[in-house]
Amino acid sequence: MPTHRVLYLLGPEHVELRREPIPRPAAGEVLLRLDAATTCGTDLKVFKRGGHPTMLSTPCPFGHEMTGTLAAIGAGTPNWREGDAVVVANSASCGQCRFCRAGRENLCVNLLYLNGAFAEYLLVPEDFVRHSTYRRPDGLKPALAAMTEPLACVFHGLSACCLDDVTECIILGAGPIGLMFVAELAHRGIRVILGDLTPQRLEVGQLLGASDTVLVSGDRTDGDTLRAATEYDRGAQLVIEATGFPTAWSNSMEAVAPGGEVILFGGCTPGTTAELDTHRLHYSEITVKGVYHHRPATVQAALDRLTEGTLPLEHLLQERCDLDGIEGALGRMASREILKAVVTT
Ligand SMILES: [Zn+2]
Ligand SMILES: [Zn+2]
Repeated sequence: MPTHRVLYLLGPEHVELRREPIPRPAAGEVLLRLDAATTCGTDLKVFKRGGHPTMLSTPCPFGHEMTGTLAAIGAGTPNWREGDAVVVANSASCGQCRFCRAGRENLCVNLLYLNGAFAEYLLVPEDFVRHSTYRRPDGLKPALAAMTEPLACVFHGLSACCLDDVTECIILGAGPIGLMFVAELAHRGIRVILGDLTPQRLEVGQLLGASDTVLVSGDRTDGDTLRAATEYDRGAQLVIEATGFPTAWSNSMEAVAPGGEVILFGGCTPGTTAELDTHRLHYSEITVKGVYHHRPATVQAALDRLTEGTLPLEHLLQERCDLDGIEGALGRMASREILKAVVTT
């Protein structure tokens, strides 16, 4: 029986490359031969914590940003042929519940997650074939196509904002997600001020279109520092937090202009709380929104944007590795040496 390699997450900072039989798709399923997967900040978080409250529980296959070519097709999948190039999103919503009916599929009560992008093959379950598989256009490089998922999260985050009158925004956090926000907002003609702790990441931010970069210190002074970089020293109309640290959540409230909006994107450790200036929230009429994950509409929008080739997101891919190089790549992400790695087998 032919076999392939699959990277498993077993617990905190513990992965294992296993050899398993290549699965055969049952009715409704397809078999994906992975062309590229990308490592993500969420993978790093999950690797360090050894799990995730909703996405996975160990031991399990690992990795969720992916693109591939269909290698076998189960019965009853008339839309797909062997050899089709696809992007598979890492979640599938039910389409039936109150949240799905309201177009908020990311909050679906029956949301399913798919992990296992760090492998040679992945069996795509029926729900994902039906709701979460997208054609990868010719000419879109697999390494870029694999980043559809994080860009879809960014598009979802932006869909929560009112961008009509926004001319200036602050992005706090120059990880892959923060940098994707930079690229997309700069592409839309908005002046972006980017704050981060790492000078090299700020340099990448400039390549992606940041107008101004601010080296922050990670403490409670950062809100004032960022506010001082805005046009009237009053803060930006839009502030996007993309760090996942409660201190940054608090600082975001202080970097926003009166009447402005704060988007809290980075998921913090469960059980943490953040301080917020109640006076400012009330008297300056600040809008604060949490955003999570992506929706089918934003997956398609992200794939379309990647296909246009207008965002220079190749700057995020700072390492190429095989399955046995993923653990090392995650270590270099943790020490902030690289932003993302692209995994090919
Ligand atoms: Zn991701
Ligand atoms: Zn649902």
